[in-house]
Amino acid sequence: MSSQPNIPFLDLVAPHAELKAELCEVFCKALDTAGFIGGPMVQGFETDFARYCDTAYSIGVNSGTDALRFAFIAAGIGAGDIVVTVPNTFIATSESITQAGGARIAFVDIDEATYNMDPAKLQHYLENECEWNAVAGKLTERKSGLRVRAIVPVHLYGQMADMDAILEIADKFGLIVVEDACQAHGAKYFSRKQNRWCTAGSMGTAAAFSFYPGKNLGACGEGGAITTNDENLAKKCRMLRDHGQSQKYYHDVEGYNGRLDSIQAGILGIKLKQLPKWTEQRQAAAARYRELCADGATGMGLPYEPEWSKAVYHLFVVRVPNREEFMKNLSSVNIGTGIHYPIPLHLQNAYKGLGYKEGDFPITERVSKEIVSLPMFPQLTAGQQQRVVSEVMNFATAAA
Ligand SMILES: *Cc1c(COP(=O)(O)O)cnc(C)c1O
Repeated sequence: MSSQPNIPFLDLVAPHAELKAELCEVFCKALDTAGFIGGPMVQGFETDFARYCDTAYSIGVNSGTDALRFAFIAAGIGAGDIVVTVPNTFIATSESITQAGGARIAFVDIDEATYNMDPAKLQHYLENECEWNAVAGKLTERKSGLRVRAIVPVHLYGQMADMDAILEIADKFGLIVVEDACQAHGAKYFSRKQNRWCTAGSMGTAAAFSFYPGKNLGACGEGGAITTNDENLAKKCRMLRDHGQSQKYYHDVEGYNGRLDSIQAGILGIKLKQLPKWTEQRQAAAARYRELCADGATGMGLPYEPEWSKAVYHLFVVRVPNREEFMKNLSSVNIGTGIHYPIPLHLQNAYKGLGYKEGDFPITERVSKEIVSLPMFPQLTAGQQQRVVSEVMNFATAAA
């Protein structure tokens, strides 16, 4: 075992140590008032988070997965419908589609530079594999006859997908857009159409956020939120998270137990105040990695950030040809890395029934074999980053 100091892939101790006294107060407040579910801490956080995302509403729920699922159900998506997303994402993106009353997943490939949904592939699918059924007044997929309803761009690794292009296609085909913003709290996109910077979660009909502990804004447990400007959709999501009731024991629909609890909401409210600073620290760390790698000697392919994007670097993902060895080398000197994600969703056992095969999404498949996530968190120091890059350089030189 190497005696080199450990550089973790993610440090969840440091950010909580900074805030320990304040966070403990939340817990005491909940104990003193026995306000564990609902109440002012949840409402307060929802107001603050909606403001942060530049939306009219935010609805706290139990997870990012619930946020996606409730958004789909509230938008009326269910059996007989198709929702289009990408295979290069966490399975929650697609699980929630199936779990919205049995809707069906359709995948389209990603853009090799940004790793996000490629609008050209989306358009190609809608134009070539679907057709407008004038009698029924809907867009249907030819091979299944199912109705295409929604698009889910995933703002992967903290960088927004090309939303202008995706929204334009959605408009043209009469589809709604639900953003999977689970990795992109506070990410920005310069909309050429609106001629302004827009915030992740504010551009689609609705968006889903996760507050899983490792996310840019994380709870000390589970949590998530839906954001939207649609009052009716917000109302439906609020009912869905609480057994379909808007008034105690008056159930308009069947819902779920999917609430954000008060302690998590209180904690999130405190951490939300730190988020702008933490985001800047992540962006500074990303810039530092780029500087340290500027001469190209590491052999790593760096993430591409278009001029219309301000990414929040949930992850700093590089590309290497010999990933297994690369990760083993770094691990031997106590540097943590990760893969997001190693198996594209269309090749997962869970989705054998969808009928996809190897070769269907070549960009996702190629990328999934070469991507590695380097250590990235707000408290990552310049010294730690220098060591990461110099170790990569050492191994690269030794191999040459
Ligand atoms: C984390 C994540 C989710 C799910 O969020 P949970 O809170 O874990 O349910 C969904 N989509 C993406 C892209 C994620 O990273």
